[in-house]
Amino acid sequence: MVVLLGQRLRFFDTTLRDGEQTPGVSLTPKQKLEIAVKLDEIGIDVIEAGSAAASVGEREAIKLISEAGLSAEICTYVRALNSDIDAAADFGADSVHLVIPVSDLHIEKKMRKTREVVAQMAWDAVEYAKSRGLIVELSGEDASRADQQFLKYIFSEGVLCGADRLCFCDTVGLLTPEKVEVFIPPLAKIAPLSIHCHDDLGFAMTNTMAALKAGAGCAHVTVNGIGERAGNTPLEEVVMALEILYGYQTRIKKEEIYHLSTLVSRLTGVPLPVNKAIVGEMAFTHESGIHAHGVMREPSTYESVKPEMIGRKRRIVLGKHSGSASVEAALHELNYQADENQIREILKRIKQLGDEGKRVTDVDLMAIADAVLAIECKPFIKMRQFTATSGSHMIPTASVTLVVNGVEMTGAATGDGPVDAAMEVLRKCVADVADIRLEEYHVDAIRGGTDALVDVTVRLSKDGKIITSRGARTDIIMASVEAMIAGMNRLLEGRT
Ligand code: MN
Repeated sequence: MVVLLGQRLRFFDTTLRDGEQTPGVSLTPKQKLEIAVKLDEIGIDVIEAGSAAASVGEREAIKLISEAGLSAEICTYVRALNSDIDAAADFGADSVHLVIPVSDLHIEKKMRKTREVVAQMAWDAVEYAKSRGLIVELSGEDASRADQQFLKYIFSEGVLCGADRLCFCDTVGLLTPEKVEVFIPPLAKIAPLSIHCHDDLGFAMTNTMAALKAGAGCAHVTVNGIGERAGNTPLEEVVMALEILYGYQTRIKKEEIYHLSTLVSRLTGVPLPVNKAIVGEMAFTHESGIHAHGVMREPSTYESVKPEMIGRKRRIVLGKHSGSASVEAALHELNYQADENQIREILKRIKQLGDEGKRVTDVDLMAIADAVLAIECKPFIKMRQFTATSGSHMIPTASVTLVVNGVEMTGAATGDGPVDAAMEVLRKCVADVADIRLEEYHVDAIRGGTDALVDVTVRLSKDGKIITSRGARTDIIMASVEAMIAGMNRLLEGRT
């Protein structure tokens, strides 16, 4: 990738526009602002905040983001219509992503127009946008199926009309690296060129990398690769591939990537695929004995990316593929000390659970370890009774009776749902003893029937100490309570 090294690659993030066009996703202006602030902080060059013409909410979001004093350029999607461009300018955008259909299929079937008419519309729109003081990125929609001579013509004239930048949109993901090699270089000579890819055939990342190599200077990306249909090129993958595979230093704050990724997943409601590169739940999780043993001795044996680089941690989980080194490490983390024979016995029982198709949680491991080490278990917090209720005309409520350090206490709390109420009542009951905070709550819904096992992970903190604890049950509320109590016990008692 020699070409790359000479230029300063830019990132144009369209999470708030193309990403928001993911079926079922809708963000409020406030949520959009929260994501935009984070995108700016991480070092994105251009933030496409929305489509100014789409709705009142969109315009409000663009205004809110434009006025937030971010260093990134704030862009909005517009069609070749003066009304769209006016909305962009009136609501404070710095630039427009002016999208023009360029394939005959789009021009004739969608627009029901001719090449000449569409080209003229594009150029007029560029001139109008420039007259309104906007930076213009002129974008060819469905460019990969367009007559490339026509595309070159529209772009060249567009630049003469004032367009500052160009963008090649592979709108439905039909590009290949071979086509990129032919299509991109002549266009990149006209003006600074962006590449916008879709993942319909799983080629978004490959095509984006090929285009950057062929002369495009800017990648259109979304966080977690969300977007229309199968999505767009994922920001986190381009950044890490450039850095690790090509030795190219982006100016993205990589250690914030995971935080950004989870924020977007939470606000959009689009879950991260567990095996997703870089940000998936399993991307830094090891179970197999050989691999876990390897990474504990030297992480690079089975990790191409250091988890700390993107603000994550390596996780070793126990299961039927585990080896004694993983068990020893897990026991150590839970403050248990076991000899070789005891570890062998604990491992045997873990594998039995694994063979039964069960996940081994901290609670399971602690129960097994207590049994094998013959520890008489006196947990700090013990649960006597727990009830949670919810329904269509009531506020979700949870009540609990706990024995906290020998003292029985009963409490009740309400919440946004029964799980929220449960977490709140537990926190309230131990509030007198310790200030324990729930930092993160995560559910792995194991697909299957409605009777499937649910795996809940909580991250709890007390006085700066952070621990992770898991619970697995078929009942999501009880799995949450189990994870919470096990975690609280670990924070409160020095287990020996
Ligand atoms: Mn798109």
